[in-house]
Amino acid sequence: MSAGRIDIVGLGPGPHDLMTFAADAVVRAARDVVGYAPYIDRLPALPGQMRHASDNRVELERARRALDLALGGARVAVVSGGDPGVFAMAAAVFEAVEQGDPRWRTLDIEVHPGVSAMLAVAARLGAPLGHDFAVLSLSDNLKPWDMIARRVTAAAEADFVMAFYNPASKTRPHLIHDVFKLLRGVKAPETITVFAHAVSRPGERIDVTTLADADPSVANMSTLVLVGSSETRRVARGNGGCWIYSPRSYGALR
Ligand code: SAH
Repeated sequence: MSAGRIDIVGLGPGPHDLMTFAADAVVRAARDVVGYAPYIDRLPALPGQMRHASDNRVELERARRALDLALGGARVAVVSGGDPGVFAMAAAVFEAVEQGDPRWRTLDIEVHPGVSAMLAVAARLGAPLGHDFAVLSLSDNLKPWDMIARRVTAAAEADFVMAFYNPASKTRPHLIHDVFKLLRGVKAPETITVFAHAVSRPGERIDVTTLADADPSVANMSTLVLVGSSETRRVARGNGGCWIYSPRSYGALR
């Protein structure tokens, strides 16, 4: 059996201090680092370590490459932003294993969690995910519009707080607008809505608005969109800003 192994690692939302100690350790120990180029660029170059940067759209190919390197005896880190299990590489690696070379099943594969964007955004705002929430990705072409519409409508009707990853679709630029149309058909106009851009990175910007006033075209590739439940509220701060939170008990404070 090969001595190679794969560590699937979440680097957190951006800065090094939001990466876990475990993630840092396995990335340093790796001989090969495989991932989408902007994530690899965040890591310091280490002597003797090989970096395999790729385009974002070739997840399965990237996963297979990592598996082959490990089968050859290498210690490989597969890196994702945020958490590797949230709309990221961990699922791609297991899909490749399920479909591919049976020898890949003999490898040690370990997943190391990271701080997902929704958690970094929530922490910045206060506690908007303090009660039940639903999380959707609007990534290009990974599911049909009918399924997106069913899930958005069901989650809105069930009054979940909702977090949207990948809101800016290149091939479907109207998608986020269509999603907002659905949300406006179900949720109240005053529902708290947040566009959180590049949280914890240089250029961070947070726009807090309401569902009625929201302009979904401000969303870009580094935006997470958060839409509150009917319970999500603002607490005014002494400095003129506000905290946003969703109470721990549904209906208790009404
Ligand atoms: N695995 C990642 C998500 C990958 S999908 C995670 O757990 O965070 C990429 C999407 O994540 C982006 O389109 C954006 O919606 C969101 N995202 C990633 N980093 C972000 C950040 N620093 N601020 C706001 N949104 C971010």
